[in-house]
Amino acid sequence: MTLKMTGTAASNGVGIAPVYIVDKPNLSFEKQRISDSSAEIERFKDALLAISDELKGIKEAAAEKLSKDELAIFDVHIEILNDPEMFNQVVTRIRSQRINAETAFEEVISRVIREFESMTGNKYMQERATDFASIRDQVLAKLEGKSLPNLQTLDHPVIVVAHMIGPSDTSQMNAKFVKGIVTEVGGRTSHAAIMARSLQIPAIVGCKGIAHQAKNGERAIVDGFSGTTIVEPTPNQVKHYQQIASQYAAERLEWAKLVDSPSLTKDGQQLTISANIGSSNDILAAVDNGADEIGLFRTEFLYMKSEHLPTEEEQLQAYKEAVESLGGRTLVVRTLDIGGDKPLTFMPLPHELNPFLGYRAIRISLDRPQMFRTQLRSLIRASQFGRINIMFPMITTLEELQAAKKIYYEERKKLRQDYPKIGANIKLGIMIEVPLAALYAERLAKEVDFFSIGTNDLIQYCFAADRGNASVSYLYQPLNPPFLKLIAHIIKSGHQHNTTVAMCGEMAGDRLALPLLMGMGLDEYSMSATSILRTRSMMKGLNIKECQQLYQRAVTECETATQVHDLVEKWLIAH
Ligand code: PEP
Ligand code: MG
Repeated sequence: MTLKMTGTAASNGVGIAPVYIVDKPNLSFEKQRISDSSAEIERFKDALLAISDELKGIKEAAAEKLSKDELAIFDVHIEILNDPEMFNQVVTRIRSQRINAETAFEEVISRVIREFESMTGNKYMQERATDFASIRDQVLAKLEGKSLPNLQTLDHPVIVVAHMIGPSDTSQMNAKFVKGIVTEVGGRTSHAAIMARSLQIPAIVGCKGIAHQAKNGERAIVDGFSGTTIVEPTPNQVKHYQQIASQYAAERLEWAKLVDSPSLTKDGQQLTISANIGSSNDILAAVDNGADEIGLFRTEFLYMKSEHLPTEEEQLQAYKEAVESLGGRTLVVRTLDIGGDKPLTFMPLPHELNPFLGYRAIRISLDRPQMFRTQLRSLIRASQFGRINIMFPMITTLEELQAAKKIYYEERKKLRQDYPKIGANIKLGIMIEVPLAALYAERLAKEVDFFSIGTNDLIQYCFAADRGNASVSYLYQPLNPPFLKLIAHIIKSGHQHNTTVAMCGEMAGDRLALPLLMGMGLDEYSMSATSILRTRSMMKGLNIKECQQLYQRAVTECETATQVHDLVEKWLIAH
């Protein structure tokens, strides 16, 4: 019987093949009292060392197949294995409670996993829980003398179905045989998803129950565009998806040709398509995918990774490394957007009932100016090594913007005592992601060189719908006509004062939003690296005048997001 299940679309493409369930051995164990704690500690040490060596071996073997980014994921896992704090906690438990290594280790690592899982407002941190869970399985299997499945031995096409897969599983996969991946846990930024995208294997994550409902050998279709898995499809469904797969393969070949091309519209206007990144590790993928610039560098991960407030020198190194690897492209750095849902280990923040409406981003920076000054100084200094622009997140009022600018200019002035022209090329901008700032864009535009519209937050605030709450996700409606008018207002207001207008929220990479945004006159489109070439290819086929007409029709003829959706779909087919 045909079974249709949905999860989160994690890697584009369509795969059709028999199901291969990755069966993990039963890793349950008994809590045991031990008499020789030193021997038990040695056993634990040997297990960590053996896995560390295995991971190094897999990393070496995969060096040709994977990019620097993906290889770095192994270092993250090796780092977890070598973490002295975790090791000491386990050893202390073995010694003081005289329990077996499995019990002590499981207690320690489960607490870490729970902590990460509880960061519900922060997808990135939440998904780090899967790294620790993968280490837990590897260590427990080693201690118990069991072996985990090995995907290297595959010799026929399959759809890999698993509860969870870690980077070592994905790196062993041969893209020749793995036609698709479906996991029960994980989100778009989990490592399994990142790896699948780079290996260009269609993937779906967060497809609850699939590992129990599908059976080995059953035929399955993975639709990585929509997040749909079909087990035992009908012949018509197979035919339909085979067509989509071959069309997509042909399209990808065409897109790849545009990697070094400028981002031009059909009528020859040059726009900018850039990439959003979370660390300098992401730059390679951005450049490989033809990014014109980096339109958003989210600096919070630099802080979240660290156990102390990153010093001016540490930040300088990070920004310098990032801008130097960009080959002359501009790097737009957003100052710290921390708070509420994004915690810092070294700076406990008060618990808040409404973290998204609370103490976050520029509000914290202005309240703790020393931290803000350190970041600004390192950015100004890093601008000697490449083109850096700076933007402030979550600006709501004119006073906030003026206060942030004042601090920026004070630090620049101090640095200029030693380096007279430092920071001369830096452009200053703000994120427009609070409705009040959007409404007041005509005044704010006088203060800055550029705007970057953060639609992820702007939509959640305009629709009063928490962006992380699945029950209200139907209110994520970038195509809603009054919302489109608000975007157009921001763009027009910016242009009245020669302020460049970019967009770095997810809407910028949305296929249906593209012609509307071009019709409104948006200058720069910043998105995840893997969407760049598709967008450039689409842009090449669109004429600005016609996009303007489409936008006018959307806001005059349509009253709902669904109507705009249908209008644009039809319009694109006709083009
Ligand atoms: C946004 O709000 O659209 C944005 C790009 O910022 P973040 O997703 O980091 O909040
Ligand atoms: Mg935001």
